[in-house]
Amino acid sequence: MTTTSDAAATWRCTECRWTGRIAQMETLPNTKHDLVYQVCPLCGAADHFMLICDEPGCELDVTCGWNSSGGYRRTCGKHFHLKVDSHDRSS
Ligand SMILES: [Zn+2]
Ligand SMILES: [Zn+2]
Repeated sequence: MTTTSDAAATWRCTECRWTGRIAQMETLPNTKHDLVYQVCPLCGAADHFMLICDEPGCELDVTCGWNSSGGYRRTCGKHFHLKVDSHDRSS
């Protein structure tokens, strides 16, 4: 399931490793369960996406969501700890 808060998040297809945003995906209505699946525009896999780190160039899986000075971030553990460390040092 996706929500409007995910519009800026980057996703990776677990089938072909395509990466992109919700707006770039196709949709596939599932009337039986009253859902809409997101479909990969490259390989056609439905509902096979993982969120990836929003740090530019980083494609690790998202493990953390947190508020930064620039807005809500979703990052891998590595980039979460980098930000936490730099914040701790400045305080
Ligand atoms: Zn794909
Ligand atoms: Zn990262």
